[in-house]
Amino acid sequence: MTAQTNRQFLLARRPVGAASREDFTYQQVPVGEVAEGQVLVKNEYLSLDPAMRGWMNEGKSYIAPVNIGDVMRALGVGKVVESKDPKFAVGDYVQGATGVQDYFLGKPVGFNKINPELAPLPRYLSALGMTGMSAYFALLEVGQPKSGETVVISGAAGAVGSVAGQIAKIKGCRVIGIAGGKEKCQSLIDELHFDGAIDYKSEDIHAALKRECPQGVDVFFDNVGGDILDAVLSRLAPKARVVICGAISQYNNKEAIKGPANYLSLLVNRARMEGFVVMDHAANFAAAGKEMAGWLASGQLTSKEHVVEGLETFPETLMKLFKGENFGKLVLKV
Ligand code: NAP
Repeated sequence: MTAQTNRQFLLARRPVGAASREDFTYQQVPVGEVAEGQVLVKNEYLSLDPAMRGWMNEGKSYIAPVNIGDVMRALGVGKVVESKDPKFAVGDYVQGATGVQDYFLGKPVGFNKINPELAPLPRYLSALGMTGMSAYFALLEVGQPKSGETVVISGAAGAVGSVAGQIAKIKGCRVIGIAGGKEKCQSLIDELHFDGAIDYKSEDIHAALKRECPQGVDVFFDNVGGDILDAVLSRLAPKARVVICGAISQYNNKEAIKGPANYLSLLVNRARMEGFVVMDHAANFAAAGKEMAGWLASGQLTSKEHVVEGLETFPETLMKLFKGENFGKLVLKV
C-alpha cells in the first residue's frame, strides 16, 4: 500500500466570510503503514455539509473545530483495503469520518459497516446517513408533528429539508417548502408531493406564508435562519414548535449572527423553539434507519443525491451549498 498516493485537503487557515480554495492546502503524500488497531479505507464518496463551514471556525461548538494543518473533516463512505482491527475485514464497506482525502488511515472510531447491495453508496450519506437521521429526529422528536398540522420547511429542496418534508407528509401533515427558485419549488410539489412551495428569491415571503398557511404554522423546521426565520415566526399557530436544525444564511457572516426579531411571537402563541444536534440521537439511529429504509423501499420516500465528481474540486463544490447550486444531498465522488 505504501506505493499509493493520497490526495488530501488540509485546513490552511480559518476563513473570514465564505470559504475558498485559499483556505485549504492541497497535497499528495504517500499512504502510510497500517498500525495495530487501524484500518486503511479507500474513500468513494464524501458528504458535503453546511456544517463543514462551522468546523473551520475557532470557538466552542457542538464539536471541536478542525485544527489548522489537519485533514479537513468530512463524513465518507469507502472500502476497507487493509485492516488491523478485528471488527473490520478487507472488502467491507464502511461509513465514518474519513476526511477530504483518497485514503483514511487510522482507528475506525465511530465507523459503521454498510451494505452496498441494499442501496447505492451515496444513499448512505443522504437518506440512510446523517442527513436522513437529522431530518427524522429533528422533525419527529423536536417538531412532534401531528396529522393534519401545517409543517413549513426552509431549505426545503436541500438534503435535510427534502427528507424532513417527505417524512411530514408520511405523518399526514400539510407540508409547505421554502426554497430558492421556481424550478426547485415546482419539483417540491411535482416530485416530492409537498402541498405548497414558496420561492423566497422571487416572492414576498410574508404574503406567500399567509397564502400557503391560512391557519398558521404548527411546526417550522428551520435550516436557514435570518429573515426567513423571522418571517415564519410572525405566522405561528398557537402551541407551535420551531425546530432550529440549522441557519445556513448566517454561516458565512463576517459580523454577529442575526437573531430573530420576532421572538415574542413565541410568547403570544405559547410556542417553543428548540435547538437540535443529530448526534444526541445516535443510540436510536439503527431503528430509525430501518424505518427510513422501509419508506424508501415502499416508495413513500425519495432520496435525491446530487453527485459531483473529483476530489480536486472539493473547495468549489462545497461552496455550491451556500449558492443554492445543489438539489438534494450534495455528494463528492472521490
Ligand atoms: P442543503 O440544504 O442540502 O444545502 C444548503 C441549501 O441551503 C442550499 O441548497 C440553498 O438552497 C440553501 N441556502 C444557502 N444559502 C442560503 C441563504 N443565504 N438563504 C436561504 N437559503 C440558503 O444542506 P443540508 O445538509 O441539508 O443542511 C441543511 C441545514 O441543516 C444546514 O443549516 C445544516 O447546518 C443543518 N444541519 C444540522 C444538523 C444538526 O444536527 N443540527 C445536521 C445536519 C444538517 P436554496 O436554493 O433553496 O437557497
